[in-house]
This record gives sequence, C-alpha cells and structure tokens, in this order.
Amino acid sequence: MNTKELEQTYELDLYPRRDIVLVGGKGAVLFDDQGKEYIDCASNVGVSNIGHGDNTVAKAIHDQYLKLGNCYSMFYNPVRAALAEKLVELTPANLSRVFFCNSGSEAVEGALKFARASTGKQEIICCMRGFHGKTMGALAATWGPEYQKPFAPMLPGLKHVPFNKFEKLEAAVNEQTAAILLEPVQGEGGVRVAEVQYLEKIRKLCNEQNILLIMDEVQTGFGRTGTLFACEQFVSPDLLCLAKSLAGGLPMGAVLCSEKISVPSRSHTSTFGGSPVVCAAALASIKVIQDENLVENAKTQGNYFLEELQRLESQKIREVRGLGLMIGIELKEKAGPYVQDLMENGVLALLAGATVIRLLPPLLISKAEIDTVLKALKKVLAE
Ligand SMILES: *Cc1c(COP(=O)(O)O)cnc(C)c1O
Repeated sequence: MNTKELEQTYELDLYPRRDIVLVGGKGAVLFDDQGKEYIDCASNVGVSNIGHGDNTVAKAIHDQYLKLGNCYSMFYNPVRAALAEKLVELTPANLSRVFFCNSGSEAVEGALKFARASTGKQEIICCMRGFHGKTMGALAATWGPEYQKPFAPMLPGLKHVPFNKFEKLEAAVNEQTAAILLEPVQGEGGVRVAEVQYLEKIRKLCNEQNILLIMDEVQTGFGRTGTLFACEQFVSPDLLCLAKSLAGGLPMGAVLCSEKISVPSRSHTSTFGGSPVVCAAALASIKVIQDENLVENAKTQGNYFLEELQRLESQKIREVRGLGLMIGIELKEKAGPYVQDLMENGVLALLAGATVIRLLPPLLISKAEIDTVLKALKKVLAE
C-alpha cells in the first residue's frame, strides 16, 4: 500500500484530507512526494510561525534530548525554569506565572479549571463561532453543534453569546460567572477581529464583577497578528492560553496566569508538561522570532498582503479582513473548491467555516512569495 492507502486503512477517518503527501519543507515552502513545491499559507493552522526546517530549533532539540530528554515536574529543571521566566517576561505585566501542558485544548482545559478554582464560581461565558479545541472541557467552550452533538452531554456551566456584541455578553453575566473566554481574533470561526472597545468594556466589567478574562491565543500567539501576542493590541487577560507555535513545531501548551489565580497543589498536573526538550525548542523558537524580527515582518508583510487583497477585484469576494499575517477572504459562495484550486496552483491555504479562505503563512514569508500567492489567488478567483 502507498502512504495514502496506509493512512486511510489504519487511521480513524477524522480529518478531511487534501490529496497530496507532504514529505519536506524549508522556510515558507513545502514539498510533496512528487517533488512539487507549494507556498505554505496554512502553517499547520498556525503552528509553523518560524517556517519549516529551522536549524536553530533543530539543534536545540537534538542537544537537549541527548543531555536530558524528560524531566517530570516533580523535579526542578533549568531549561523549564528559563522558559517560565521568558514567557512571564514577554507576556503582559499582570501575568506572573505559568502552567505547562502539551496542546491548545489542554491549555483551555487548564484555564477553565483555574478559573473555577480561583473564583469559587462555576459559569463560563464563551462566544459563538469560538474555537477552543475538542477535548471534553474545551469542546463545551467551542461553538458548533456539529462538533458537540456526537459527544453529548457537554460539561455544564458554559454558555455562548454573540462575538463583538457587548450588551449580549453583559446580559449573560450573573453572580455565578467565573470567567469570560474568547479569542482576540476568531480563527476557525472565520478570521473575525475583536473590536478594541468591545474588549475594553469586557475588561472593565470583569474588574468590577470579579470575573476572570481568559484569552485563547493558541492561534494568534507568537507574532501571528503583528505583535508578539494579539492581546497587546487590546487588553490584558487574567489567563492567557498558548500552544500551536509556542515550541517551534513540537507539541506544547501553556497557561499564563495573573496573581488572581490560585489553585490547590496537585489539583492539576501533566506528565509531559514542561519537558526539557520542548522547553528547549520553545526557547530556541522565541530566539528565532526575536533575532529574525518575525513579529515586525508579520506586521509589514501582513499589511501589504491585506491591502493588496482588498484591492483585488473579484465578484466572488464578500470581504477581506485580518490582522498581521492572519487573513480571511470571505466569499459569496463555498470556499472549498477555491482552496483546492489554490493547491493545484502551488499554494496551500485553509478554510475557516464554509465560505472563508484563511491564510496563515509562516511569519518569515517574503514579499516575493506573497506576490506569487496573490497571483494564484487572482487566477482562481477570476470569473
Ligand atoms: C487550535 C486551537 C485550539 C486547540 O488546540 P489543539 O492543540 O488542537 O488542542 C484551541 N484554541 C484555538 C484558538 C485554536 O486555534
């Protein structure tokens, strides 16, 4: 059997697959098993912010594995210590501690538990079109009956209100509200950017009513939106969920916590959380982001990309929106066939809902590569 047949035979059929076999990558380019090149505008849904095949991260992983590969958090470890300090230093000033885990869903799970434990309250308000992962707790926060229905009943105490509508959210708050959970830019939900005033009002409401603000920056983190964290352009949360691009492509999640968070010892732990190899990868990845000015590049190239797309004349486009290198092209029709066309034209893009083409290129993408993507988009979106 070939690769495709093996995967189809031996794995659960859970992912809608694209019909190519990827075997390599360098920078913002991916290669399939036929030797065909693609410009990556998917980044594994925001994992590959530093691009593919980075030497600094590869060496850090290799060296740390030989030195000490695993170290359960019952023991201290200098690499974990250095990453904890680094993350607290880089995130907003009110965030002073970190919990390490292994994925975005797990970061959300942690944040939900920390919010309940710290406030003694039970309810969490989430947003319609929000995406927070698919483990049982995170799934209850994720919007979408199609995701939830096969696995009912959901964790109680979570409710959804429309995104960017403060009055609706305010009306859902009561004395049992522990936290409000949202993404500063909804990714999966269609690349929808929060309004600054909306988040400022939420921050004020949270302060007044002893409610915690949880921001899910699993997708927006590490430069994606043109600042290291998207919250820098809005307001500071009490809990900040990170994952995807945190460790240069290795699985890692983290929850950054303010002084308002206190959780009983041993109440929440993770076997692999903060293992030295992923911590070394994260430290190396952060160094690459800083040394290569990737946040600045995301901002510059993101603005260029967005402006050029907004100029693109096509009857098929309803709206182009985004922040930094997180861009959505909403069509007046289903976007799936266009994503397929783009692939055939050497560009890998994502969907965000049925009608939105989502572009999340590695942050090191060059202007020349963006021009190639624009050319492909013009071609497939032409009448
Ligand atoms: C991807 C994603 C998650 C879930 O992360 P996993 O690592 O797949 O569990 C949660 N929140 C947001 C905003 C995401 O984009």
